[in-house]
Amino acid sequence: MNVAKPETGDDGGSSQPGSGSSNPRPIMARCLSCAAQFPLGKLAETRDGRCPGCRQHLSPGWTTLLVEEAENIETLRQAFVRALRRMAGLPGTLEILPDVILEDLDAIPWQRNILTEPTSLVDEIQKVRDRLEGLDPAIAVSDQTVDEANQLRADLQALSNRFIRLGQLLDAHQEAVGIRDATAGQKARRIASELAQEADAVIDRGRPRDVANRLEQADEAAEAARQQAVMHPQTETD
Ligand SMILES: [Zn+2]
Repeated sequence: MNVAKPETGDDGGSSQPGSGSSNPRPIMARCLSCAAQFPLGKLAETRDGRCPGCRQHLSPGWTTLLVEEAENIETLRQAFVRALRRMAGLPGTLEILPDVILEDLDAIPWQRNILTEPTSLVDEIQKVRDRLEGLDPAIAVSDQTVDEANQLRADLQALSNRFIRLGQLLDAHQEAVGIRDATAGQKARRIASELAQEADAVIDRGRPRDVANRLEQADEAAEAARQQAVMHPQTETD
């Protein structure tokens, strides 16, 4: 078959979706010393590797790489997003499945996790709680409609996955700061496993135990994680 070529050039003048995306928002970054937020691309402009807020070195000894990759990330992201938008906007029968892209992003050990993940998890827990409260209170969780049950199951499973990752983060953090008797990691893993069980119970029409109660324990596990992160700040000693 002939390779189809789009008629004329891509001067952006067509009504293709994405043609209005000339100014994507910048990726933001945060300094964990002073909490200042700034566009990541700023590092490629100043090139000194210092926080625009407190002027501390953001990654002592690694300024060259920091600047180079900050530049790469912004340039490549814009090209990447533009390419995806254009492809997704093409007429025809092609659908891009984003799962792998999202998983790749998910697997990046974002620095912010240990400090902000617990708070972010509390927000997630609240969303699941809201969904739960939106269900018909006269009907047991296990007897909701299939759609509702599926959704709740997906929520609980996603929450469980995030607690697994939180457990890994806490272990790494515990090792980095040299604390021995911390229990936050175990708590995170336990609640991860219990949330997964609840998720299965919802869909199996079994007997989910009290999901609301489980969410409260999830809050407690997130709080324990937050405490560990706050009580034992990770300092740059090298
Ligand atoms: Zn700073």
